[in-house]
Amino acid sequence: MSETAIPRDFYARDADEQALFLQETWCDNCQELNLGMSEPKEYELYGIIFIEGRCNKCGETVLTELTDDDF
Ligand SMILES: [Zn+2]
Repeated sequence: MSETAIPRDFYARDADEQALFLQETWCDNCQELNLGMSEPKEYELYGIIFIEGRCNKCGETVLTELTDDDF
């Protein structure tokens, strides 16, 4: 496992999948589900895939952690 984030190509995913990830979010700042995110960036860290973006409501960073079931 590496301690450095390995960039992945979010846009290489299916359009449907992209839309889902952009929609299904949890914002710590708003404490609300599925507000959506913009500017998605995907990377791998400690063997886990993360998709990071900005909350569509407050603009804070939101992070989606993908479990093995998701990919
Ligand atoms: Zn928010």
